[in-house]
Parts: sequence; structure tokens; C-alpha cells
Amino acid sequence: MIEARQLTKRYGSFTAVYQVSFRLEQGQTLALIGPSGCGKTTTLKMANRLIRPTEGSVWVDGKDVSQQPIEQMRRRMGYVIQDIGLFPHYSVEQNVAVVPRLLGWPAEKIRKRVGELLEQLGLPPGQFNKKYPHQLSGGQQQRVGIARALAADPPIILMDEPFGALDPLTRQQARRDFLEVEALKNKTIIMVTHDIEEAFEMAAIVGLMKHGRLQQLGPPEQLLLAPANDFVREFMAEKASQLELLSITLSGVFSQLAEVAPTTGKGVSMPAQTPLLFAIHRLAKEKTGEAYGTTLKNGESRYFQLDVLFQLFRQTLIQWNN
Ligand code: ADP
Ligand code: MG
Repeated sequence: MIEARQLTKRYGSFTAVYQVSFRLEQGQTLALIGPSGCGKTTTLKMANRLIRPTEGSVWVDGKDVSQQPIEQMRRRMGYVIQDIGLFPHYSVEQNVAVVPRLLGWPAEKIRKRVGELLEQLGLPPGQFNKKYPHQLSGGQQQRVGIARALAADPPIILMDEPFGALDPLTRQQARRDFLEVEALKNKTIIMVTHDIEEAFEMAAIVGLMKHGRLQQLGPPEQLLLAPANDFVREFMAEKASQLELLSITLSGVFSQLAEVAPTTGKGVSMPAQTPLLFAIHRLAKEKTGEAYGTTLKNGESRYFQLDVLFQLFRQTLIQWNN
């Protein structure tokens, strides 16, 4: 659990962030979004004390982080830096191993953990361990950055525009791959983005900011269906119809799914926040009507087929537009 209570940051007479509060349970993802300069990065950095709040506090598992040794607290939060920020003179392996080294892990444990993470992120260690950042594509560098943040298995991950340095196509693929990474499941994530589509795809809670203030905080569909003010409405207007399609998630239809889908079976595992649209796409790619997907919510799993998803998708869309 991580909670921000009325975080405020002033630089002289300028207020960069004003009274931002949110609360995330374990395993939830929050996307902070808004125009450039609205205070997203400042908020994220206050979460792990890279920036000291002028007022307000951050609580992790019921403890005020300002009362704890900074090193201990940072160990509990992995940070994915804006623009990737790998160390250019470190190999991939060395980049990922930075935090475990600082923590004094034995060499063998580090080697094993680095290998496991690179494997999961689609960078087989045999091929990538010894490479240097300049020998990698943008997408590969980005995955090394994520592996680095995950290395010591922190329960909380902070990510500043994690896909910002990628071209649009790589970016879309990277996001979808990201949702599948085993080591990221069950992490509490705060991510910053200026891309509303990205926020809707990845986060269970979206916080839209303007001039340092949260304009609305809630599940994506709430911002879409019940915008708190004109700014929120206008921010999403251009992409409203795409966002509507994205904001129908497995989690959102879980209760209907629970009525019709079996509780046991075998299938491709999909996180609960996966948009139905992606789940449908994924099952359709299997080229067999027999393929099952499986999702888990509150410890309960459901196995479902393409037809069921189509039906639920249609029902939900009709319901929303009535
Ligand atoms: P975002 O990440 O949303 O683009 P930031 O959080 O980086 O925005 O910045 C919020 C505002 O605070 C911006 O107007 C920025 O210029 C200002 N700001 C950030 N850091 C400083 C600083 N060290 N001194 C003065 N102003 C700052
Ligand atoms: Mg920023």
C-alpha cells in the first residue's frame, strides 16, 4: 500500500504541485497524466523523496516514509527514469545488477536474478548480458531500464514516461509486452505519462493533473463517463471513442464472466486490467475457437473463450451508451 497525503511542492512563490492525494493497494497501477509541466514528475519524485515535499506526506504500508532511513525506503521502490537513463559504460548485466550490488547480494544470486529478469523481458542473457546500451535498440534499452528497476524485487515501482523515448509502433508493442511480464505482476505501480491511451491501457486508476492539481482521480471509465470538469472532458474528447473501447477490461466484466466461465482449465494468462479488446485480439490470434484465456481477480480465476468475450464486450458497450 502507498498513500500520498496532500503533497505540495513550492519553488519560491511558484507552486509546482498542490495538495495531491491518492492511495494505492498492493498490485494496483496508477497513471498520472496531464500536459507538460503540470507536476507529474515532481509528484513521482516526492513519492520516493528524490524531491522533498514542501507539505504533505507519503505513507508506505502504514509508515511515514520521511521517518525512515532513505536507503531502506528506496529499496522498496524501483524507479524507471524518464528517457531510460542507462549507464552507458556499464554492460546490460551491470546495469541491471546495480541495486543488488549496492545491497551486497552474493555474486551467484545476482547472476541468477539478472538472467531471470532479462529472460522474462525478452532479452536472453546469453545474447545480451555483455552488450552495452549503445548496441541496443530503444525498445531493448527500455526493457533493460525496467529490469534494473525490478532487480531487487521492490514491491513498488515508479516509472516516469517509461515508453516516452520509443517510436509509436515500438511503444504500443512495449506496453502490451509490459502487461505480460511475470516479475511485474502484483507490483504496485505509479507511472507518469502524457498519453491518455497509455494510461487507459495500463492503469486501474488514472489521475489527471493540470497546473499541479489533480483534476480527477478514478478508474479510467469514470473519467470518461463522468468527467469532473470541462478540462477532463476536453482532455479526452479527441480520443473518447477509442478510450471507451479500451476502458472495458477483464476486471470490469469479471462478475459477468464469473457467471458463465469455468473456474478451472488451462489457458493464456491475462492480467485483470487487460482491455477486453486486447484479450479478444490475443485469443483470435490463436486461430482456434478452442483457445482459453484465464484471468484472476481477488484470488478467483476464470477461463473463457473468444465467444464469451465478444458477447460481454457488446453488452457492455450497449449498456454504456444507453
Ligand atoms: P511534468 O513532469 O508534468 O512535465 P514537472 O513535475 O517536471 O512537470 O514540473 C512541474 C512544474 O514545476 C514545471 O512548471 C516546472 O518548470 C517546475 N519545476 C520543476 N522543477 C523545478 C525546480 N527545481 N525549480 C523550479 N521550478 C521547477
Ligand atoms: Mg515529467
